[in-house]
Amino acid sequence: MQSIAADYFGIEGMATPLPGYVDTNTRITTDDGTSYVLRVSPSTADLDYMDFMASVLAAAESTSFAIPSVVQSTDGQTHVGLNDGSVARLFTWVEGTTYEESGMPAAAARSIGRTAGEMVSTLAALRAGEDPDPRQKWDLRFAAETVDRYAQHLATDMERHIVQTVMARYSALDRAALPRQVVHNDINPGNLLLEGDAVVGLLDFGDTTYTYRIAELAIACAYATLDQDDPLAVIGEVCAGYREWVEIDKTEARALFDLILTRLATSVTIAASRSDANRHRYVTREPTWDVLRRFVPTDLDALAQEVASFAVGREHVAARSTVTRPMVSPSLGLSYDSPLTITSGAGVFLHDHRAKRFLDCVNNVCHVGHAHPHVVKTASRAMATLNTNTRYLHPELPRYAERLLATLPNHLDTVFLVNSGSEANELAVRLARAATGNNVIACVDHGYHGNTSTLIDLSPYKFNGRGSRGQKSWVRVLPALDPYRNEAFGGEDAYDEYRRAADCVLAGTELAALVVEALPGCGGQIVPTTGALSAAYDASRDAGAVVIADEIQTGLGRVGDRFWAFELFDISPDIVTIGKPAGNGHPLAAVATTRNVADAFNNGMEYFNTFGGNPVSAAVGNAVLDVIESEELQRNAATVGQILKKHLTALAMNHHAIGDVRGAGLFIGVDLVSDRTAKTPDATLAHAVVEDAKEHGVLLTTDGPSHNVIKIKPPLVFSERDAERVVTVLAAALSRS
Ligand code: PMP
Repeated sequence: MQSIAADYFGIEGMATPLPGYVDTNTRITTDDGTSYVLRVSPSTADLDYMDFMASVLAAAESTSFAIPSVVQSTDGQTHVGLNDGSVARLFTWVEGTTYEESGMPAAAARSIGRTAGEMVSTLAALRAGEDPDPRQKWDLRFAAETVDRYAQHLATDMERHIVQTVMARYSALDRAALPRQVVHNDINPGNLLLEGDAVVGLLDFGDTTYTYRIAELAIACAYATLDQDDPLAVIGEVCAGYREWVEIDKTEARALFDLILTRLATSVTIAASRSDANRHRYVTREPTWDVLRRFVPTDLDALAQEVASFAVGREHVAARSTVTRPMVSPSLGLSYDSPLTITSGAGVFLHDHRAKRFLDCVNNVCHVGHAHPHVVKTASRAMATLNTNTRYLHPELPRYAERLLATLPNHLDTVFLVNSGSEANELAVRLARAATGNNVIACVDHGYHGNTSTLIDLSPYKFNGRGSRGQKSWVRVLPALDPYRNEAFGGEDAYDEYRRAADCVLAGTELAALVVEALPGCGGQIVPTTGALSAAYDASRDAGAVVIADEIQTGLGRVGDRFWAFELFDISPDIVTIGKPAGNGHPLAAVATTRNVADAFNNGMEYFNTFGGNPVSAAVGNAVLDVIESEELQRNAATVGQILKKHLTALAMNHHAIGDVRGAGLFIGVDLVSDRTAKTPDATLAHAVVEDAKEHGVLLTTDGPSHNVIKIKPPLVFSERDAERVVTVLAAALSRS
């Protein structure tokens, strides 16, 4: 390459290889530090197209940003033929940091729009004559052909569904009416050079073509949406920048959103066909799928209209969610003052009906991340194979039972599979009554254990609240385990203090069970002392009870240091109930117990559960365990949880409203108070903080008897970066609220 530069262009310098699709690109750096790009194209290259590109570069010299220019060969040519038939060209090197290297800042959107606008304005006068390259695969005029050619490489039904949805809309566009001209045709993250948030250079005119004028803007928008929280807002900004140079006409405005999607779909379809390790493909492929996955489940007509409207400069009014639910349970509360319509999710993110991305810090159900590919694939395969009840033998169920038991202490050797946390606790209560012959059940104050009649009666969080008929005669309530608000249960004498209080409640009672969470969730993300918790166990057992550890919020690795929350303490339950995270959102729950308890329950009355343990649910349960193991999520919960707690504790130094930061792994509570000494719960502040964080893309909720505890229990794929983001947003929200 060095010799080509020297022999044909008279440029002596060092050669360093650069990435390229079809061409071989080399950077040539001379002794005085000047750089050039040497492009060697295969012998099949179109020489007329090269001439056309050279004329485009010449026309674009006048732009306010830097572009490469053609360096003529020593005999005055813009390209030279080499002995092997390939063709060499030399361009000046444009120095700078690409948009991609700068981390794709959303703040650059307006400048990206201006760049597209200035390109269109500059190239408008250029006459292309004949189509320079009549079948350019990146030309939006031929997107349908391109996608048809490469669609066979799409890997999954979901990928095909996404691309087909976009292409069906593309086919319906009135494209004949779109104005045409020469455009750069590839304003992508690797081709834009930035200084701060301003574009200062544009590279790679290799896809330049004569096509729809609006393609320049559509392509710039498509790439600008990658890896952004609010892609529609970004499109709005890019359009605003573009309009500083060029008017968008009505036909263009109507087509814009679908052409943006088409470019994204074309890009992933072509990428799917490539097996080469092309750097550029690796950078944009996943974010491109991500933004398509976010857009496709939304109301695309509404979004296309919204984009059309702000493209022509109308005030940006967000499309409203059309989802209402007048026929659905009026007693169900929705999160947030202005409820979210969530249409998709991926990993730690939830996406709303406008494809806006929110960091989900509260979804402890989608334990291994939203729409985890392994869980989704396993579930769909299982559904396509068999779903029936458990009156037949099927290998998935015993495999799941065995794997669950392997994570539990040896004395827990029997599993029942059910469909919800409530069903698990309901069955646990029946098991306990059968095993002890007693009827009375104890629970801990402020606890929640489920939505059935029995469990509401065992949930002080509910029966001491609105709409309740109060505590039943067969229920005993032990004091809350909270060492922050009840210091006696936090100190050295915690065992004795709690034991005395519990004995008092249980005096003269023949108890069937104590149902208790090792880390009470609804109670306010409490971390009890071993003393208090073991005193609750001992007092109940001395009253005849078996102990039910409700691990529905805390199980399967969430607490980091151990797989189950009760293992953080020196205690040993007789029954463990497992729910929320077990199916990653699929209804799957379980009860693990001892053979003795299970045998006592086997009294002639059959326990049959139509859906419990069906082959699909069991397969999903196995898939969730696979991911917890293969992605080492328990360890991640420990590491990230510790970092998060450290940052939150540091935050408490500056924010006196933070009374307490507590938790284990990725089960954390931030207790907000109006007076640190009196520990007065500040529910108003907690509400304001949660609403503010939501506005800034972070989803939190409140918990605890006074609704003043910010709870953080995200999917376990939460990263250190996510943790830092929560803390930043929380800090800002606390300052503002
Ligand atoms: N126990 C605990 C500790 C819970 O948090 C919940 C649900 N919030 C349940 C039981 C009931 O589970 P489900 O909603 O799946 O019936």
